[in-house]
Amino acid sequence: FIHASYTGRFAPSPSGPLHDGSLVAAMASFLDARAHQGRWLLRIEDIDTPRVVPGADQIILSQLTQLGMNWDGDVLWQSARLLRYTEIFEQLQSAGHIYGCACTRQEIADSARQAGLLGEDGERPYAGTCRFGIRDARAPRAWRVIVPDESYVFIDRWVGTRTQNVAQTVGDMIVKRADGLFAYQLVVVVDDHDQGITDVVRGQDLLSSTARQHQLARMLGFTPPRMMHVPLVLDAEGRKLSKQNHAQAIDLQQPLKSLQRAWAALGFDVLPVTTLPAFWDNAVTVWRQRFNIG
Ligand code: GLU
Repeated sequence: FIHASYTGRFAPSPSGPLHDGSLVAAMASFLDARAHQGRWLLRIEDIDTPRVVPGADQIILSQLTQLGMNWDGDVLWQSARLLRYTEIFEQLQSAGHIYGCACTRQEIADSARQAGLLGEDGERPYAGTCRFGIRDARAPRAWRVIVPDESYVFIDRWVGTRTQNVAQTVGDMIVKRADGLFAYQLVVVVDDHDQGITDVVRGQDLLSSTARQHQLARMLGFTPPRMMHVPLVLDAEGRKLSKQNHAQAIDLQQPLKSLQRAWAALGFDVLPVTTLPAFWDNAVTVWRQRFNIG
């Protein structure tokens, strides 16, 4: 792995083709990398195998290529990195950061209510029930990392300063799930570090994951990347555009129109261009001015 002064990435989950919402995140990370004359890597986040749609990864690669969004270096598939994740998991375990948890969803909700905890988005944080041992000799279902009870402050280049106490709002986080799969929260931290990512640019749905990812990175001795969380595209009902909500794949019959739409979603005016290369040239220039780059 090469370490450059700016390395960004786009990290789609191959649960379907890219849609107008994922294009906004892809565009922002691509532009920020190009504006910094940095590298832009592509990582296929296929760790959550039940959600993987066979062939979706190749469709995503082809969509990006057709839009003129060329990544640097080799594509990384998370499914090829299970040994590395296991190594990190064992490292955390031998350092005493991990414990097994036998709680069911219902038990987690009940104990959070008893402890008076209420986390982000109305979700109940984990109260730490199994931290000092599992009751009734039950087998662990999932594995959790002990998170520090402190306010974590970070600066986001889009939304500004954010503070979150992960222990209070999320609780000890799952790094290995009940189905045996490593959790997104763990592998994203390992991948960003191993790929030398200096800058993460992604959608605001992941803003609330940042504090826990940074704290996990620090626990592993990694330097957390700089962050930028860009606005989400909402559907007519005000929900995040997503594959679960049956968002349409990007219209590649009219690639320039699709790019202009994503560009507008980022809050910019239509660019007076008629070709894809001209679109990207212009967009990089505007992006540089907007974020005082270079
Ligand atoms: N794979 C995640 C998604 O598609 C993105 C992860 C990230 O950018 O950190 O929502």
